[in-house]
Amino acid sequence: MKTSPSRPVVLCLSGHDPSGGAGLQADIEALIAQGCHAAPAVTALTVQDTVDVVDFRVLDRDWVIAQANAVIADLPVAAVKLGMLGSIEMVETVLEIMQSLPGVPLVCDPVLRAGGGGSLGKDEVGYAMRERLMPASTIATPNLPEARILAELPEGTADECAKKLLPFIEHLLITGGHGDEGDVHNRLYSRDGSRHTFTCARLPGSYHGSGCTLASALAGRLALGQTLPSAVETALDYTWRTLRDAEAPGRGQYVPRRLPLDFCS
Ligand code: PLP
Repeated sequence: MKTSPSRPVVLCLSGHDPSGGAGLQADIEALIAQGCHAAPAVTALTVQDTVDVVDFRVLDRDWVIAQANAVIADLPVAAVKLGMLGSIEMVETVLEIMQSLPGVPLVCDPVLRAGGGGSLGKDEVGYAMRERLMPASTIATPNLPEARILAELPEGTADECAKKLLPFIEHLLITGGHGDEGDVHNRLYSRDGSRHTFTCARLPGSYHGSGCTLASALAGRLALGQTLPSAVETALDYTWRTLRDAEAPGRGQYVPRRLPLDFCS
């Protein structure tokens, strides 16, 4: 038995999805697959299945602070991953938590909609993320519809959204899964002017929890010490494979297969 952890700890501040496709379960599975230890702190509860969201409830600030403090006091947090926050108050709560973790990489997945289109937070929550959380984050990982909301450019291209958002954040990965290009173009923009495009084959179907999978894998890779562009590439490759191997366990969207089937053998 070892006393010091060899697997970096990633604190996840995300919502719970009882279908198991997205939210904290996605975070935990994706982080295990990177060789990290997930410390899952609940920000919100949702009622949903693989088709769409029916309802959600954001937890009280005190409960979220208490969960995070319990983790921070006990475990060496190497990165933080943000998922569904659900309210402007929760944006402020996360900022308060991050004050105890100076210099720790922060990956912000600006969750505002479920894969089925249902709301997981008003657009104002996105604006608060842009103004308050993005400056404190290492990278944000919006898909194109989320980037358009954050940038307040309903018809904007990824480039136009990035131009509007880069003053708020150092690195921005706008994923192209929701676009209409033949291949998927995932675009990484950095404030120093560098830009990388990662292209992958478009897979058929729609997926539940792909954004959570990507952001968690990326947080895990940063926790392992990988540099940013390389961590993004590894996380995108991993996410693509989870989508290629996805299954539809219910009546709705496909759920990424984040762990091998023979994990226990
Ligand atoms: N977080 C929670 C709790 C969710 O329920 C969802 C979607 O249903 C998401 C995040 C975002 O999911 P996706 O990764 O499909 O964008």
